[in-house]
Amino acid sequence: MRTHPPIPRLVLLAALTALAPATLVACAAAPAAGVAAAAAPASIARLRCEYLVNPLGMDVRVPRLGWVMQSGARGEKQTGYRILVASSAEKLAADQGDLWDSGQVASDVTTQVAYAGAPLASRMACHWKVRIWDKNGRPSAWSAPAFWTMGLLAPSDWQAKWIEAGLPAPADSKAPVKPVCLRKSFSAGKTVRRATLYVTALGLYEISLNGQRVGDHLLAPDWTDYRKRVRYQAYDVTDMLRPGEENALGALLANGWYAGHIGNGGYQRWGKTPALLAQLELLHVDGTLERVVSDGAWTGHAAPITDSDFMKGENNDARLDTPGWDLPGFKADGWQAAKETSPATGPLQAQVMEPVRMLQEIKALALTEPKPGQWTYDLGQNMVGVVRIKVTAPAGTRLTLRHAEMLNPDGTLYTRNLRGAPSVDTYVCKGGGAEEVWQPKFTFHGFRYAELTGLPGKPAMDAVTGIVIGSDTASAGTFACSDPRLNQLYSNIVWGRRGNHLSVPTDCPQRDERLGWMGDAQAFIRTAAYTADIAAFHTKWLADVDDAQSPDGAFSDVSPNQRPSHGVPAWADAGVICPWAIYQIYGDKRVLEQHLPAMTKWVEWCRTHSTGLLRDRDRGNDYGDWLSIGANTPKDVIGTAYFAHSTHLLAQAYAAVGKREEAAQYAQLFDDIKAAFNKAYVTGDGRIKGNTQCVYAMALRFDLLPQGQRALAAGYLADDIQAKGNHLSTGFVGASHLLPALTGAGKTDVAYGLMMQDSFPSWLFSVKHGATTIWERWDGWTPDKGFQDPGMNSFNHYAFGACGEWMFSTIAGIDADAPGFGHLLIHPRPGGGLTWAKASYDSIHGQVATHWRLQDGQCLLDVTVPANTSATVFVPAGAAAQVTEGGKPAERAEGVKFLRKEDGCAVFAVESGTYHFAVQR
Ligand code: BGC
Repeated sequence: MRTHPPIPRLVLLAALTALAPATLVACAAAPAAGVAAAAAPASIARLRCEYLVNPLGMDVRVPRLGWVMQSGARGEKQTGYRILVASSAEKLAADQGDLWDSGQVASDVTTQVAYAGAPLASRMACHWKVRIWDKNGRPSAWSAPAFWTMGLLAPSDWQAKWIEAGLPAPADSKAPVKPVCLRKSFSAGKTVRRATLYVTALGLYEISLNGQRVGDHLLAPDWTDYRKRVRYQAYDVTDMLRPGEENALGALLANGWYAGHIGNGGYQRWGKTPALLAQLELLHVDGTLERVVSDGAWTGHAAPITDSDFMKGENNDARLDTPGWDLPGFKADGWQAAKETSPATGPLQAQVMEPVRMLQEIKALALTEPKPGQWTYDLGQNMVGVVRIKVTAPAGTRLTLRHAEMLNPDGTLYTRNLRGAPSVDTYVCKGGGAEEVWQPKFTFHGFRYAELTGLPGKPAMDAVTGIVIGSDTASAGTFACSDPRLNQLYSNIVWGRRGNHLSVPTDCPQRDERLGWMGDAQAFIRTAAYTADIAAFHTKWLADVDDAQSPDGAFSDVSPNQRPSHGVPAWADAGVICPWAIYQIYGDKRVLEQHLPAMTKWVEWCRTHSTGLLRDRDRGNDYGDWLSIGANTPKDVIGTAYFAHSTHLLAQAYAAVGKREEAAQYAQLFDDIKAAFNKAYVTGDGRIKGNTQCVYAMALRFDLLPQGQRALAAGYLADDIQAKGNHLSTGFVGASHLLPALTGAGKTDVAYGLMMQDSFPSWLFSVKHGATTIWERWDGWTPDKGFQDPGMNSFNHYAFGACGEWMFSTIAGIDADAPGFGHLLIHPRPGGGLTWAKASYDSIHGQVATHWRLQDGQCLLDVTVPANTSATVFVPAGAAAQVTEGGKPAERAEGVKFLRKEDGCAVFAVESGTYHFAVQR
C-alpha cells in the first residue's frame, strides 16, 4: 500500500504548541499556596476567542472565550474560573483586568464564555488570561496570555474608497479583466505605536508594505455573496513600517470568485472589474490616528500576471516584471490614476475563520516522459493547490504546466473530467542565467500529476513542488487500525476535506464546479468535524447559507448562491442540519440562535410546499439519492424524510435554546409528518416505498418508524445488502446514513461487511485501485470499463467519505453523548476481522482517545477522557466481573462505576483521566 507524506500540524496547532510550554512552566512555577504537593495542578491550553487563536480585527461585539483544562488526574473538574481582560499586555502582566475582571466564577464552563466587560470599541486591543479552580478548589496558575483586537465596527470608521486600477477596459467588453498592480507612497511619522492594515477586495488581493508581503493569506478575501457581505482582514504591520521615512503599499488584484469563472455558470457573476479597499491606520504614541487609505491618489498598472482565473489557470510573463514597483521611491511613470468606485456591496464584516493558506509542500515521487517533451511529475497524492517551479532557462522560454488527477493508459494526463476548467498555468522566463522560482497566486487546481513542457532538456526532479492550499483549520483527529486499506481510506477522507474546505465547503476542486454544494456539505459535516476543527469555518459558511436562502424560505443548492434552484431535499436541508451539527459538536448555542429564523423559514416553506405533509412537489432540481448505483429511491420519500428530519432538528434546536413552546409545536409537526410518511409509504409488513437501502437507512436514522417496525426495516436493509453480495447501492444521501443506521439497529456485523468490502461498489474499491482521495462515483474508474463519463467524474469529492463518522464512532468508539463532547459515549465495536484500532479526537473540551486491541485472548481498551468531562464507556465483555482496569477489578477502580450490561458490553460511568481496561475473552 502506497503511503503519502505525513500531514504536518497546521499553523494553528503550531501556535498552540508554542503556547503550551510557557503555560506548563507557569503552572509548575507557581503552586497554589497552602496546597499539598499531590497530583500536578491542572493547566490551561488552547486559549481561543471565537474559536480563533489571537484573532485580529474582530467585529463580534460580545466575543466568546474558551480554553481547555488539562490534567492527567482522574475525575478532574473545573469548579471555577477567573478571566482578566486588559487593554495592554503590561496591565495584564500586572494582573489588572481594566476591561474585564470576571472575578472568581463558580462554573465548570470552559467554552463560549461571553465577554462581559467594558463595551468594546473599534480598534481596541484586548489582552486576556484565565485561571481555573480544580475539583478540590485549588487554583491553577494564570494561563499564558492571549489577545484579540477589535476591527472597524462602524461604517463611518472606513475612510478608504473602493478603487479600480483605472486601466483602459479590454476592447472586447466581455473579456475578463487582467490582474493589476496598485500602489501608493506615504510618509510615516516617527511616533507610530501600532500600525494596522485593514484590507479587502472585490476579487482577490495580495498586499505588501515596503516590498514585503503582508500576512500569509491566500485567495483573500474569502468567498461570500458580495452583495450581502464582504469580509475584510486586519494585519498588524507595525514591524514592517519605516517610521519617519517614505513607505509604500503595493497590491495585486485579480478576478477570483468575484469576476472570474465560477462553476460552469460563466464569469463576472458579481462584477466586471475587481476593486481594492485598504485602510492603513497608524496609531501614534500620543493617541492620535493617522490613516493612509485607498483612493484616487493611488496609481495602477498592468501586472506581470497576464491572466488569472480559477478554471483557466494563471499566466505570468516574468519579462514584464517592474522591479521595485512596491517599494518606496519608485517612480510610477506611466502608471494610471486609480479610479474610485461605489460598487453595490453588502456591509463590510471581519474575517471570522482561518484564512486559506499554504498547508504543505509535496515533493514529486516520479518523473516520466510519456511523449517527447511532456515531462510528467507524479506527486503521489491527489491534492489541491498549485505547482511551484524552479528553473533556469533563457529569456522568453515559455513553460506550460497542465494538471490532472489521473493518467491515461499511455501515461499522458487524463484531463477530460476537468470539463470547462483547462487548469493550465504558463510562465515566460526572464532569463539572464539566474534561477527563477514561480508559483501562481490567484488560481488553484485539483491534481496529482503535473506536466511541464517547454523547457529545453530534461527538467530536474525538484523543478516541480506541489503547494497544498486550503482553509487553515487545525487538524483534529487521528485514526489507525490493523487494516491498511482502512487507513488509506481515512487518509483519503482527510485529503478530501483539506482540498474541499477552501474558503467554502466545495464539492470538488478540479472541474468547472468547485461550488458550496449544500447536499455534500451536510452529508459530510460530522466526518469533517472528526478530522478538523471546523467551528469557525462553518460559522462563516452558515452566514453564506442564510444569505443564499430565497426570501420565501427555500435554501439553495449551493452557497454562496450561484444557481436558480432552491428547495432540493437533502441539499436545502443543510440549512438546518449544519447549524445543528455545529451545536452538537461544539455546544455552540449562539449558532443555533442566529440561524433559528432561517431554519424555521425553511421548515415552514416545506410545509407550504407539500401535500398533506408529503413533499410530493416543488423540489427544485431534485437530485434524489445522487449517484446511487443499481437502485432508484423515490424522490418524494427522500423529500418527506428530510422534511421530517429538519423539523425534528428544529424542535430540538428550540428546546436547546429554551424556547419550549416552539419546541413543542415542531415536535408535534415532526410526529404529524411521521404519521403521514408511514401512512403513505410504509406497508403493514414494514416495506417502505422504493424498497431501497436508502429508504430504510433514512427511516432508521431519522426515527421515522413506529418502534415495532424498526426491526423489520433493519431486516430488509440487511437482506438487500446481503442479496447484493455485501454491496451497497446508495448515493450521496443514503451513503451517509447506511453504516450508522445499521449499527443503530444492532447490525454492526452487516455494516462491517460493507466497510471491509473492496469489490465494486464499495468504499474500499477505489482504495484498492490506488485512490488517494474519495471519488465522486463508486465507478469513477473500473478495470473493465475504464473511466466513467467525463462529464461527471471527479476523483476528489468528499461526499462518500461520510463513512468517516462511523469509523470514529463505531470502530474507534468515540462519540458525543451531550452537545460539545461534555459527556462522551465511548463504545468501540471490534469487528470486521480487525485486531486493533486507535483514534484520537481533539474535542472542544480536549483530547479524547481510544485504543483497543485483541491479543492473547484478551480485549484491551485504553481510553482517555479529557479533564472536566465524563464518559459512558462500553467495554465488550459478558460481565462486569470479567473487566479489569489497571490490573484491578474495574468496578473498584478509581473514577469507574459499573452501570449496567447492554449490547454485549459491561457499561461503566467513567470520570476524566486515562484508563486501561482489559477483558479475558
Ligand atoms: C456536484 C455535486 C452536487 C450535485 C448535485 C454536482 O455537479 O458535483 O457534488 O451535489 O451536482 O447533484
